[in-house]
Amino acid sequence: MKWKEGCPYNPRLNVDVEELYIYDTTLRDGEQTPGVCFTKEEKLEIARKLDELGIKQIEAGFPAVSEREMESVKAIANAGLNADILALSRALREDIDRALYCDVDGVIIFIATSPLHLKYKLRKTLEEVEEMGMDAIEYAKDHGLFVAFSAEDATRTPLEDLLRIHRNAEEHGADRVHIADTAGVGTPQSIYYICSELRKHLKRAHIGVHCHNDFGFAVINSLYGVMGGARAISTTVNGIGERAGNAALEEVVMALMVLYDVDLGLNISLLKELSELVEKYSKIPVPVNKPIVGDRVFHHESGIHVDGVLANPFTYEPFLPEKIGHRREIVFGKHSGSRGVRAKLKEMGIEVSDDILLEIVKRIKEAREDGIEIEDKVFRDIVEEVLKSRGCSK
Ligand code: MN
Repeated sequence: MKWKEGCPYNPRLNVDVEELYIYDTTLRDGEQTPGVCFTKEEKLEIARKLDELGIKQIEAGFPAVSEREMESVKAIANAGLNADILALSRALREDIDRALYCDVDGVIIFIATSPLHLKYKLRKTLEEVEEMGMDAIEYAKDHGLFVAFSAEDATRTPLEDLLRIHRNAEEHGADRVHIADTAGVGTPQSIYYICSELRKHLKRAHIGVHCHNDFGFAVINSLYGVMGGARAISTTVNGIGERAGNAALEEVVMALMVLYDVDLGLNISLLKELSELVEKYSKIPVPVNKPIVGDRVFHHESGIHVDGVLANPFTYEPFLPEKIGHRREIVFGKHSGSRGVRAKLKEMGIEVSDDILLEIVKRIKEAREDGIEIEDKVFRDIVEEVLKSRGCSK
């Protein structure tokens, strides 16, 4: 059955769907949202749900952070999940040893490459940093790990340096290289450009994109990265993460499906539930109008919209909410029309004449404009009052 209605003008994504995948970092970058701290049990539960969704790779944490973090990552790696479990690692052998202790399948080795980070943060030369990176990659590969190498602040690194270092990383055995838009300063055009240049310089390594949402561009930048040749997309549930967060998993997945007709084969009926789980444990509230999973993104109030949706949901919805475990709701208020009210009355087993219906609609609008929210109880009271005043009883 049809469940979505996209725009026929959307271009096709020039990608091999079989090769495209997500590595989710809710448990690492997501947990780095200021104020967020998951317990081991919470991390495990989120990891299980991500696995149930069908995510290919889960970045479970950063073992160097603490002993407990290390134990959490180890527990996830040993939970028997289908997903490959990755750990974040600095370009240091001791960090890779910690990852090995955790029994993970792979590591994301990161080191900053931009002049800004080299000068003010690392206080190292690019040559020193490159040497550290290559040593770490070799060490991790010698120990049988999947290795992704991430140039932190890639979007502010001179292209020739970026290309050389990533090519070097590939030659040292990296399975994937990341373009990390660490400060969220890339645009769709620049991310596309960097990825497509990088694609030309690599032989076999995949490209991953890790985008931040400082300007609300994380999702679209990720998709342009894919158009430029990236094969792995970094996401977090609800888009949580450092500062304005990362590319939201649910937005990337649904945009690919509905707008670009690319199906990653995920069990999307779990998306709303997963969002609620992460909202609960992160204590970062999901805005009610947050795309895809916000509580009110499938609510309709205005009479014109309600009319349309009752006749055919696609008139005002891009896809059916139940597909992702969400639900549609008709809300009553200032903009309500008679068709929606009649549908609600029918649900309650009440049939009324047209003039009584109009009276009920009028009273609903007035009540809302008096500052009253039209919850079920209020709706019922209004209906009862009108019926009583008209001498009918229900
Ligand atoms: Mn990040």
